[in-house]
Amino acid sequence: MRILIISDIHANQEAFEACLAAAPSYERVFNLGDVVGYGANPNEVVNKSRELGGLLVRGNHDKACSGISDTNDFNMVAAIAAFWTQQNLTTENLEWVRQLPAGPIVQEDVPGVQCVHGSPLDEDEYIIVVRDAYEPLGQTTARVTFFGHTHIQGGFSVENESWSTLRPVFERENDAESYKITLSDGAKYLINPGSVGQPRDGDWRAAFAMYDSNEHSLTFHRVPYNLEAAQRKILEANLPDRLATRLSEGR
Ligand code: ZN
Repeated sequence: MRILIISDIHANQEAFEACLAAAPSYERVFNLGDVVGYGANPNEVVNKSRELGGLLVRGNHDKACSGISDTNDFNMVAAIAAFWTQQNLTTENLEWVRQLPAGPIVQEDVPGVQCVHGSPLDEDEYIIVVRDAYEPLGQTTARVTFFGHTHIQGGFSVENESWSTLRPVFERENDAESYKITLSDGAKYLINPGSVGQPRDGDWRAAFAMYDSNEHSLTFHRVPYNLEAAQRKILEANLPDRLATRLSEGR
């Protein structure tokens, strides 16, 4: 089965549409959460996510924006955006966001794979460096765990107690690119498709991944999108300026 893996869309409609337009054919969508928060198009992005369906996991911003959790852990900019999002979501979409399930989530017809927002051990935990992966990857039996939350495309693996960090290698800055790896049958993986709507790995292009469960292969993708439109909408919505400027930096 070919599966489109998306995460951290963060209400960025332009980035989301660019990813969907660039994605090769797929039979299923795994959406790892933070559908909303930061960007100016929460309803458009929720509507599209609902239409795509598939597997969904809630993120910390989904919880904060729908009132499940408070924003005490958020910086001022994130808290302002969460409040704005809560005010601007339709009642129906707010309820949909509120009902997103906590990870890990598995699907019976895709064995050996689980989906989380942060970590399989804690939905709000960040797995940033390989050391952060020791405990969650050591404890899980899933061959592949898809996660988001850090907005950094790549991941970690362990095979015969040998740990590795995975990072796609790209050559361009402004064009669409992909990077394919074949996964080892004997290894366990934590894989982050990157953030659709607010990358933080120094690459402004929208990120997603494709997983082929038959080939056991993974392809990381980066695609340019209409950055100026996304930034203009953030400013027009009176969301904090920083949410617009950081998009061009990929930080
Ligand atoms: Zn996020």
